[in-house]
Amino acid sequence: MKALIAGGAGFIGSHLCARLLDEGHDVVCVDNFLTGDERNIAPLRAQPRFTFVRHDVIAPLDDPRAQDVDVIFQLASPASPVGYWNFPFETIRVNTEGTMRLLELAERAGARFLMASTSEAYGDPLVHPQREDYWGNVNPIGPRACYDESKRLGETITIEFQRRRGVDARIVRIFNTYGPNSQLDDGRMIPNFITQALRNQPISIHGAGEQTRSICYVDDLVDGLMRAMFTLGTTGEVYNLGNPDEETVQTWAELIIKLCDSTSSLAFEARREDDPERRKPDITKACDVLGWRPLVTPEAGLTRTITWFRAEMERSKAWVTANAR
Ligand code: NAD
Repeated sequence: MKALIAGGAGFIGSHLCARLLDEGHDVVCVDNFLTGDERNIAPLRAQPRFTFVRHDVIAPLDDPRAQDVDVIFQLASPASPVGYWNFPFETIRVNTEGTMRLLELAERAGARFLMASTSEAYGDPLVHPQREDYWGNVNPIGPRACYDESKRLGETITIEFQRRRGVDARIVRIFNTYGPNSQLDDGRMIPNFITQALRNQPISIHGAGEQTRSICYVDDLVDGLMRAMFTLGTTGEVYNLGNPDEETVQTWAELIIKLCDSTSSLAFEARREDDPERRKPDITKACDVLGWRPLVTPEAGLTRTITWFRAEMERSKAWVTANAR
């Protein structure tokens, strides 16, 4: 099978490319490196079944290497607060126009399609845990709106291609995911906490630390993406993918301090505008239909992630030192 992964040089995309290659598929990774990193796909480039196409998916994808694909994963979009605050218009365009261009490609090729949406589509939810049939509570002009609302419109575009033009498309709403290959400074909770803990700096907590978050290890998430794409009967459906184990932000900070063997203290800062109070997926539908549930414990996933962050921080320190000479 030939799989196209838009956003394949990003955090989740690079793990998905690796998994598809491991399973014997041909992989076409399409990315413009807006928030991704060449180093994420460096280990894959030596593999003969891996092709990289540098391209902005807002434009039609006419490259001959990206035609005749069997499946398309649309993961291209800035995903972190830092990413979409720096690139609001790019975020809006990739989730709407980019998704449309990729759906047109899926229509031409007769390919299956998966759109990576987000738990942010629920906004600051009034219902807990969030089920797929909850329509959300989103501020359309808030600081996160360029991301939340463009993902919501991306979902609409996807479902219209499925409904009216017969594209075999599905949507997944991804909840907070962590693991190796994420950006060190992307403003997300886990990368922030780990980098601060490894530097023995105070851990910045926005608000009182009582807001809850559930976190999913990237291998589990990728398994969910594969099942959502390849399970029969998923056309036109929406699935939450995330880990329902809910803990307070303070609890996650304390666990990370312990696993990093750090001397960091907690530093409570002003609450961020539109920061949701609670976020927890109801994954009953994914469990029942896809036979999916997260298997990696927070301790195991965080330990692997901390090992990667430690090496990555050493590497960037060595690079800065070498280039300062
Ligand atoms: P990421 O920023 O690491 O990866 C996104 C990739 O898309 C990057 O490599 C970036 O360069 C690429 N990209 C952006 N705009 C592009 C364009 N116009 N053309 C081509 N490539 C483009 O983010 P991630 O964490 O890997 O997220 C992947 C997807 O999953 C995103 O769609 C995101 O919204 C969704 N998601 C992620 C999380 C999470 O916790 N990581 C949570 C919810 C949803």
